[in-house]
Amino acid sequence: MIFTKFAPEYKEVKSLKKVAFYTLGCKLNYAETSTISRMFEKKGYKKVGFEETPDIFIVNTCSVTENADKKCKKIVKEAKKISPNGFIAIIGCYAQLKPQEIATISGVDAVLGAAEKFRLIELLDDFAAGQEAKVYASSIAEAEEFNNAYSIHDRTRTFLKVQDGCNYGCAFCTIPLARGKSRSDTIINIVAAANEIAATEVKEIVITGVNIGDFGIHNGKRKEKFIDLIQALDKVSGIDRFRISSIEPNLLTNEAITFVAQSKHFVPHFHVPLQSGSNTILRKMGRRYLRELYEDRVSKIKGLMPHCCIGVDVIVGFPGETEELFLETYEFLKELPISYLHVFTYSERANTRAAEMDEVVPMKTRNKRSKMLRILSEKKKRAFYEENLGKTYTVLFEGDVEDGKMHGFTENYIRVSAKYDPLLINELKNVTLVNINEKGSVDVFEPETEEIHH
Ligand code: SF4
Repeated sequence: MIFTKFAPEYKEVKSLKKVAFYTLGCKLNYAETSTISRMFEKKGYKKVGFEETPDIFIVNTCSVTENADKKCKKIVKEAKKISPNGFIAIIGCYAQLKPQEIATISGVDAVLGAAEKFRLIELLDDFAAGQEAKVYASSIAEAEEFNNAYSIHDRTRTFLKVQDGCNYGCAFCTIPLARGKSRSDTIINIVAAANEIAATEVKEIVITGVNIGDFGIHNGKRKEKFIDLIQALDKVSGIDRFRISSIEPNLLTNEAITFVAQSKHFVPHFHVPLQSGSNTILRKMGRRYLRELYEDRVSKIKGLMPHCCIGVDVIVGFPGETEELFLETYEFLKELPISYLHVFTYSERANTRAAEMDEVVPMKTRNKRSKMLRILSEKKKRAFYEENLGKTYTVLFEGDVEDGKMHGFTENYIRVSAKYDPLLINELKNVTLVNINEKGSVDVFEPETEEIHH
C-alpha cells in the first residue's frame, strides 16, 4: 500500500529535475545540444538556465576551441559553485578526444563520446554521482550512426544538421578524430525535419554539417547528392529562406551555384573555406584544391549573383608559412570580390600531422598576421556593404533590442539596424539600405511618421 501511494510522488520528483546546457563550438554542436535538450524535456525534465541551480549540467565541448581543457575546467567549477550536488556530464568533440583526461577533472560525473552522446539519458538513467566519473567513449570508428538534430533558439533561424563527420584528412584538423567518418541523413528525413521546423514558425533554416558538400553517404556508400538535397528542400513550403552554412570549394559545383542563383528560397550567401591563398601551403595542409580553383568558384558565383555575399575561412601561421607565402594569401584575398573573413590563428593540436611539422611560425608572427587579415576583413565587409547601399533587400528581423534598435540580416547577409518594433520580430520586410552606422551595421530608410491612406 505504502509503495503504491508513494510511487507516483517519487516519479513526480524525478520528473521535475532541472537540467541546464552549455555549448562550446560550432553550429553543429548548437543543433545537437538543442536536440538533446528536447529529449530531456520529452522525459519530463525541466530545461533551465545555467544559474538556476540545475540538478544536471550537460556541457557540449569542442576540440577546435582554443584552450578547450581550461574552458571545460572553468565551466565545471562554475557549475559546482551553483549546484554543489549537481550532476555534471561532459559530451562533444573534446570528450571524444580526451575522455580519460576529462574524467579526472574534479566535479565531473560522466564523460560521453561521439557514439554515446545521444544515448545520454538511457546510459545515465538515474544521474546519481558515484565516486568516480563514468566514461562512455568508444573508439571513433564506432561512431557510424547518423543522429539527426536541429536547434531552436528563437523563432527566427534554426540550424539543421544534414551531415556529420569527414573523410578528408586536412593536416591541422582534429574533427575527423572527434566526429568520425562522413555520414548523412536521408533526403526524406531532412525534408520531414524541415516540415516539422516550418510548423514552429521558423522562417530560416541554415543547412549544417561538418563537410556538407560531401552529403549523401549512408553506411559508407554514396547514395544521394548535395544538389538533390537542396532541390528537395527548395520545395518545402513554410520556410522562406535556406542558407548553406559552409562548403568546401572543391565540392561547390557549378550546378549548385546555378541552382542557388535561380532559387527563390536559397539565399545568395556562401561561406567557402580557403585556409590559405598560397598553393605551397594548401598542399602542405592537404587541402583538395589550389587557389586557381577557389578563384574560379568565386568568379562563377559573382558572375551569376553580383550581390552575393561570400565569407572565407583562413588560417594564418601554419608551419612553413613564410612572410612571402603569407603575403601571397593577403594579396589573393585583397583582390578577390569576397565579403568577409573568419580568421583563425593556427595552433598545434595533438595527433595531427601539422603538429609534427617543422618550420613552426612564432606565435608573435601568427598574431601579427591574424591582425592584418582581421583589418582586411573589416575593409572587405565595409566595401561590400557600401556596394549595396541604395538597394532594396528583405530583412528577417530578430528579437533582441539594443539602444531602441532591432537587427536582422538581409538575404545576402548584411546586418541591418532599424527602430525597434515588436511587430517586426520574425517578420520579413523589404527595406532600402541607407548608410553604414558607427556600429558597422546598415541603417534602413524609415519614414518619420507612418503614412495613413484614406
Ligand atoms: S575538410 Fe578538412 S578541415 Fe574540414 S572537417 Fe574535414 S578534415 Fe577538417
